[in-house]
Amino acid sequence: MDTILVVNAGSSSVKLQIFSVEGEGRLRRQIKGQMDGIGSRPRLKASGAGGDPLADRAYPIEAVPDVATAMRIVGDWLREELRINPIAVGHRVVHGGPDYDKPVLIDHGVVARLERYVNLAPLHQPHNLSPIRSILANFPLLPQVACFDTAFHRSHGALADHYAIPHQLYAEGVRRYGFHGLSYEYIARTLPSVAPDIAKRRVIVAHLGSGASMCALKDGRSVESTMGFTALDGLPMGTRPGQLDPGVVLYLISEKGMSASNVQNFLYRDCGLKGLSGVSNDMRELEKSENPKAKLAIDYFVYRIGLSAGMLAAALRGLDAFVFTAGIGENSATIRERVVEQLGWLGAALDPIENSRHARVISRAGGGIPVYVVPTDEELMIAQHTLSLLASSRSRNPKQERLS
Ligand code: AMP
Repeated sequence: MDTILVVNAGSSSVKLQIFSVEGEGRLRRQIKGQMDGIGSRPRLKASGAGGDPLADRAYPIEAVPDVATAMRIVGDWLREELRINPIAVGHRVVHGGPDYDKPVLIDHGVVARLERYVNLAPLHQPHNLSPIRSILANFPLLPQVACFDTAFHRSHGALADHYAIPHQLYAEGVRRYGFHGLSYEYIARTLPSVAPDIAKRRVIVAHLGSGASMCALKDGRSVESTMGFTALDGLPMGTRPGQLDPGVVLYLISEKGMSASNVQNFLYRDCGLKGLSGVSNDMRELEKSENPKAKLAIDYFVYRIGLSAGMLAAALRGLDAFVFTAGIGENSATIRERVVEQLGWLGAALDPIENSRHARVISRAGGGIPVYVVPTDEELMIAQHTLSLLASSRSRNPKQERLS
């Protein structure tokens, strides 16, 4: 059985999925797992397609000091215990910089280029590149594909891509990239089958998870995003503040004496729903909490989604449909209800029964703009990209190696 390994590596975890390649290039998810607690309490957990447990094992801290070691252990486990030798590996890479507007087959030159973007995404890019380098060193003929969170947004026009700062910084790469592109691309590709009437029209997609952003789609292409140079901008998130006056950062430095790395940690880890509520970064916890600050955090989240919808509708010059996706968007009927209330002036009206049963269409029939719930699948998107790039690479390089 031909399989594709999808890898999503972060600072302390390596998430993996295995897809089998079925007839006509269809992909079927077989395994989902992750090694987390790298450098603290390493643990490998994995399950099969039906949720059947395949592994749950802890490692001593010194056995898994970094992401590259975690990747090697996961690779050994796949090969030696499950006898899985993928035909290719697809990686989630947060930053493709200004040039990559689509996934790319990896070689040493691509890695060197992607290393240049480390300073555009210092918390993510180095960890994304680490397993790529390790596989390149150990299995140089195994095809690897980098799939970028930024690529789908490279269709933005100049106005959406710029900040009002001197051009030299733009030339260096200080641009409004936008993120969650693999999720939006999956939704854009799915709409023609689940919602053909709106697929080519003006659609706002709200990716509401622990990271959150919104994207304006026109004719299936991204024209604007709430995120910019980094994944800090836009909506409030689990631990990130979203839109913030840069003056606040100056205040932290000049009045609070915070260093650049203190500010970075603060903005990525201590703000957002967690910072505002003082209770949790997790929406489920906030929804359960009686604490008034938890209520304030939820109110703020909903309010900012409403404001951003106005901004994106202006970029689209109107709105034909709204789509919810990701953890909160797919699962929280309460948040959806409150967001749709905010969208009333744009013509949205909720069907509470359809919303409570998490139906595909949750807007009232016979009027207003339709509102959809479409589950996202970034890993499947990566696997699809990997398979299609593999097909073109095979014609160029007949020597293929498996992870063995
Ligand atoms: P993601 O990053 O897409 O996995 O989404 C994670 C976020 O989704 C967390 O804030 C979770 O609390 C939230 N979430 C998942 N399930 C639910 C649910 N049933 N109700 C409310 N929030 C949920």
